Amino acid sequence: MQKFNIKNLVTGGAGFIGSHLIDRLMDKGEEVICLDNFYTGVKSNLDKWYTNPRFELIRHDVTEPITIEIDRIWHLACPASPVHYQRNPIKTSKTSFLGTYNMLGLAKRLNAEILFASTSEIYGDPEVSPQREDYKGSVNPIGIRSCYDEGKRIGETLCFDYHRKHLTKIKVMRIFNTYGPRMSPDDGRVVSNFIVQALRGENLTIYGDGSQTRSFCYVDDLVDGMQRLMESKLIGPVNIGNDEEFTIYELAKVIIKKINPELEIIFKPLPEDDPHQRKPFLEIAKKELKWYPNIRLNEGLDKTIDYFRSIKIT
Ligand code: NAD
Ligand code: UDP
Repeated sequence: MQKFNIKNLVTGGAGFIGSHLIDRLMDKGEEVICLDNFYTGVKSNLDKWYTNPRFELIRHDVTEPITIEIDRIWHLACPASPVHYQRNPIKTSKTSFLGTYNMLGLAKRLNAEILFASTSEIYGDPEVSPQREDYKGSVNPIGIRSCYDEGKRIGETLCFDYHRKHLTKIKVMRIFNTYGPRMSPDDGRVVSNFIVQALRGENLTIYGDGSQTRSFCYVDDLVDGMQRLMESKLIGPVNIGNDEEFTIYELAKVIIKKINPELEIIFKPLPEDDPHQRKPFLEIAKKELKWYPNIRLNEGLDKTIDYFRSIKIT
C-alpha cells in the first residue's frame, strides 16, 4: 500500500541538500516539517512550499531538544563548508554532538527512522583510495577541521550506540563532495567558488598547487541515494558520492573553459589538514541500494552554471 501520510522531519532543510530533499518528499505527497536555524540556510530555498498544507517550517536550533510527532528524521543540520564550520568551531562541535543526540533521542522516543548525514570527512586525510566504509580514517583531532570531522565521527558513534542499546532505526550515510543549484554564492566550497569567480570575471583561486583530488556528486544523484538508503534495511555506514576523481586544477580548467577562457588561476596557501585525495568506494551502495551516480561532472557543472547565471551574485 502506498504511504501518503509519512511525516518527515528534515533538520537543516533550508540548506543546499536539505531543500532538494524536501522538494522530493513534497513531490511524493508526503508531509514535511523543516527545522532550521538559518545559520547557512535561507528561507527562499523553500519558497514554493510555504502555501502547501503538507509543509511546515520551524525556526529551531538542534542543539536544543524539541518534542514533535514524526515518522522519519533526516538529520542534516550542520554547516558543511569549511569556511562556515570553522567560523564558529565550538558551535559546530555542539551542533554535531548535541544536535545528533537530541535527534536520536527523538527517534528513540517515537521509534522513528533516522538518517544521519555523515561525511567523507570522517576519513580525514585518507592514506588509501578509494575510501571503503571499513577504512578507519586518518583524522587530526586538534586541527581546524576537527570540529567538523570529529563532530561527524561522534555523531556516527552516537547513532551506533543508540542502535545497539535501544534498537534505534539508524541509517548512516557518508556523503562525498556534493554540488549543484542552491549552493550559496558565498558558500566557500570549491565548485561554487570557482563558478562565481568565473561569472564575476575574477581569476580562480586554487589553494595549494591544485594536485589534491575530489570526486563531485551532483545533488540529484545524492538525494536519490539518500532516499534509497532510507527505504532500505541497511543501517550503514554507506558511502554516497560520485567516484570520478578530478584534481582541483582540472576542475578549475574545466570551469574556465566553460565560462571564460581568458581567466587565469591564482594560487593561494593550502589550508591546514586539507585532504590530498578523496574518492568513494561505492560497492555497498551499488549492490545493496542499486544506486549509481548518473550525472557526470560536465553535465552537472552546466546545470550549476545555469543556476548561478540565473541568480544575482554581485
Ligand atoms: P548547508 O550549509 O547548505 O546546509 C546546512 C543546513 O543546516 C543549513 O540550512 C543551516 O542553516 C542548518 N543548520 C546548521 N546548524 C544548525 C543548527 N544548529 N540547528 C538547526 N539548523 C542548523 O550544507 P549542505 O551542503 O546542504 O549539507 C547538509 C548536510 O550534509 C550537513 O550535515 C553536511 O555535513 C552533510 N554533508 C554535505 C556534503 C556536501 O558536499 N554538500 C558533504 C558531506 C556531508
Ligand atoms: N579549494 C580551492 N579553492 C577554493 C575553494 C576550495 O582550491 O576557492 C580547494 C580546497 O582547498 C580543497 C578542495 O578545493 O582542497 C575542496 O574544497 P571544499 O571546501 O569544496 O571541500 P572539502 O575540502 O571539504 O572537500
